[in-house]
Amino acid sequence: MPKRLPIELPDHLSLANLPTPLQPLDRISERYSLPSRGPRIWVKRDDLTESGMSGNKLRKLEFVMAKAQGSGANVLITCGGIQSNHCRATALVGARLGMKVQLILRGKDPGELDGNLLLDKLAGAEVAVYPDEEYSRDLEQLFEKWSEVYQSHGDKPFCIPTGASDGHGIWGYISASEELINDCAEQRFEPSHIVCATGSGGTQAGLTLGCHLLGLQTRVTGYAVCQNSAYLQKKIREDIAHWMELTGNPLDLNFLSVLINDDYRGPGYGLAGVEVYQTIEELARLEGILLDPVYTGKAFHGLLQELQQGNYQGVDNLVFIHTGGQFALFPHRNHFFLTVE
Ligand SMILES: *Cc1c(COP(=O)(O)O)cnc(C)c1O
Repeated sequence: MPKRLPIELPDHLSLANLPTPLQPLDRISERYSLPSRGPRIWVKRDDLTESGMSGNKLRKLEFVMAKAQGSGANVLITCGGIQSNHCRATALVGARLGMKVQLILRGKDPGELDGNLLLDKLAGAEVAVYPDEEYSRDLEQLFEKWSEVYQSHGDKPFCIPTGASDGHGIWGYISASEELINDCAEQRFEPSHIVCATGSGGTQAGLTLGCHLLGLQTRVTGYAVCQNSAYLQKKIREDIAHWMELTGNPLDLNFLSVLINDDYRGPGYGLAGVEVYQTIEELARLEGILLDPVYTGKAFHGLLQELQQGNYQGVDNLVFIHTGGQFALFPHRNHFFLTVE
């Protein structure tokens, strides 16, 4: 009997190719996990949700876009880093649905089109770039400003927060939890652990809440790529609280464990040490899987360290969620095949 969430999904669009595959990584498990009595490692291929729209953001956008369309909007406004996967997915989703897209990007205009930024432009999105400091200080005002610009031309904008992580967006991974548990059941196991890269927190919030609603003992751990554990604890609980408010579903948040490992963030968002690039090289060579240097490579590198330290001893099966991000490999081309001094 397939396991079912005890709650109806709200309206959502069908944009992703679901279910995504669940695959064992046996060469990686043999090298890094089994010698320290660790689990068999599996990967949930959410990098295959779509081609250009690939990755975790598409699952969240399926729910957020139903809201946007319901509101009668014809313009999407969202934000992120210059190489944001979320912005690229939104740009392409907008094009697919015949909507305009305005991106508010953080950083320095690189002067050339590469990786996700190239795809934003190909999708016809309008791009406005702001220096780090101004972006962090004024993000709310920038959303207001751009909304007014479009309204003054008779358009109807809809704003999507960072990473589409809020009470609507987290439905994407509440729903994915049900899919994943049934993939695992087909392979005759229930995962003791689920691991993902955590940026804005919506993926982890959805998985944590989904597993809770499904009545599972599964532990969901987010490997932070940028923000620290204290920030993410608060953010993930806020997203879940927002979801409770929207759905009128009361839950006692004290019983929900939000597990975050922030030991592998490295020098900062989008910055990684040589070891992360080496992990990406190894996974490509050993398993034919492309990780990215901003999210999945960092998280997977952290996971391999923890496995080797014996921190998952006695665990049977662990599922790593591959949240996508492969287009960021290209702007990072100069960081590969370097050796440690
Ligand atoms: C956005 C992103 C994440 C993090 O997801 P959040 O829901 O923001 O925590 C992980 N991996 C990739 C490739 C992403 O683009």
